[in-house]
Amino acid sequence: MPHRERHPVTAALQKVAAQQKTQHKAAQQKSHQPAQPRAVVVGGGVAGLVAARELARQGLDVAVLEASAAFGGCVARHEVAGLMLDAGAESFATRSSVVADLAGELGLGGSIVAPNPAGAWLQLPESAQPLPKTSVVGIPADPAGADIVKAIGRRASLRAAADKVLPLGTLLRKEPLSLGELVRTRMGSAVLERLVTPVAAGVYSADPDVLDVDSVVPGLRAAVVRHGSLGAAVGALRGAAPAGAAVAGIAGGMGLLVEHLVKDLKDRGVRLYTDAKVSGLERRDGGWRVASAAGDFSPAGLVVATDGVSAVRLLAGSLPGLEAAEPAPGPAVALVTLVVDLPELDAAPRGTGLLVAPGVAGVRAKALTHATAKWPWLAAEAGPGNHVLRLSYGRAAGQHAPEAEAFEDFTSWPDEQLCAQALADASVLLGLPIGEDDVLGRKVVRWVGALPSATLGHRARVAEVRRLASGQHGLQLAGAWLAGTGLAAVVGDARQRARLLAEDLGAGTAPEGAPADSP
Ligand SMILES: Cc1cc2nc3c(=O)[nH]c(=O)nc-3n(C[C@H](O)[C@H](O)[C@H](O)COP(=O)(O)OP(=O)(O)OC[C@H]3O[C@@H](n4cnc5c(N)ncnc54)[C@H](O)[C@@H]3O)c2cc1C
Repeated sequence: MPHRERHPVTAALQKVAAQQKTQHKAAQQKSHQPAQPRAVVVGGGVAGLVAARELARQGLDVAVLEASAAFGGCVARHEVAGLMLDAGAESFATRSSVVADLAGELGLGGSIVAPNPAGAWLQLPESAQPLPKTSVVGIPADPAGADIVKAIGRRASLRAAADKVLPLGTLLRKEPLSLGELVRTRMGSAVLERLVTPVAAGVYSADPDVLDVDSVVPGLRAAVVRHGSLGAAVGALRGAAPAGAAVAGIAGGMGLLVEHLVKDLKDRGVRLYTDAKVSGLERRDGGWRVASAAGDFSPAGLVVATDGVSAVRLLAGSLPGLEAAEPAPGPAVALVTLVVDLPELDAAPRGTGLLVAPGVAGVRAKALTHATAKWPWLAAEAGPGNHVLRLSYGRAAGQHAPEAEAFEDFTSWPDEQLCAQALADASVLLGLPIGEDDVLGRKVVRWVGALPSATLGHRARVAEVRRLASGQHGLQLAGAWLAGTGLAAVVGDARQRARLLAEDLGAGTAPEGAPADSP
């Protein structure tokens, strides 16, 4: 085609028109692309979901990026023998109302249930007995109580009672101080090994000698100083706790909390991404650059609500000094759920289950939950004569643990081996033979590094992380590794962190506890 020279004015007009067309097209494309969220939440466990909800309530456009295929983290569900069961957390502490409040806002208030008041039992090497009730992580308020004497013997009870008169000395000023050392020094080894160790293993999957007393029972150390003895401090903490059961559940399972949270977030327009592992976080233009398997994001604000190891690794480049505060990976736990057809268990021979002291011959489980005895709603769902048993494995041994109790990595055992062990353990612990023929269904779940470490020095590490993050515009950190293990700790903290971020970003502050349908 011959080349034709254009008039200069015509050419200029054509150029302007072309430019306008391109700009219009770009603007059109942009309007079809979703704008960048103002805030991104990394991690879709309960901490992340609660933080996202709070940010959305404050009027912010939010995205949640979850690495795995499902939201909820440690609050997960699975199906065993046709029953939908909790595969992780199955209750929440009632020492504060935060979880119940959240459940209420999500329309689950009417489903909150108390467990069977029969309570749990304690399996000692030679016998089993109901778990003493007036205690904190197994530490008795009154070591002379009949149930304590039964568990540890008269001589050990007398030794424990010396706590009332022993001078406090310098122990309470020790940094860090382990739960084991505090109990052993004040009340003696029998209280530690027979009462505290089984509870610590059940809740923290760790030996009291490796647990930081300030992380496990915040306020206990100060209470000992105030009241002059460990027993009196435990009594005071117990007295300050709300009346009624220490834990509650949700009829249908704790998994419903996550289901309802996710639905609520969808209704609020929160963008939810699963299989969206975040691989990089960096400061960019006063905000953040988030690299994830679901794409890159550039939010103004960020809540990092992963486990501690992931959070530190993601933020180390942006927060100098953070690397030194990286927590140890949490303990590994394996849970074996057995659904059995065994009407003999209708009588709930060991209440709602057992915590197992070290040294029980042949038993490797650290705890057994008789879930159908604990939760009447589940018994009704399971049907007559059917029972749900959940056995947990894996405890980190402390330096004083006998060699036979040395840490064994049950999470690496094949499923069949773990299930066979669980059947044998359940038979011993419940005091009746349970055979293969009784089993309607079984499932093994492994939680590796999901429980945060509460090991020695953890409180100081948390304080350091909080200090490093506090001056950072557009950044908050949430999750159990900082807030403490358990939903009661995690939910309250995540709400508070999200409110701080919203304030930081200049968003409106909806009052706490405002109706669920408020923005
Ligand atoms: C077996 C078990 C039983 C428990 N039982 C109870 C109980 O009965 N009562 C109770 O109160 N508490 C219980 N807990 C503890 C409680 O469940 C936890 O403290 C709480 O759920 C922790 O919530 P979280 O959001 O902080 O962490 P998590 O639930 O661990 O969630 C963190 C999320 O971050 C995601 N993530 C990690 N890295 C990345 C990344 N790079 N990118 C994107 N996402 C990432 C993870 O996949 C995960 O979903 C239990 C825990 C376990 C493991």
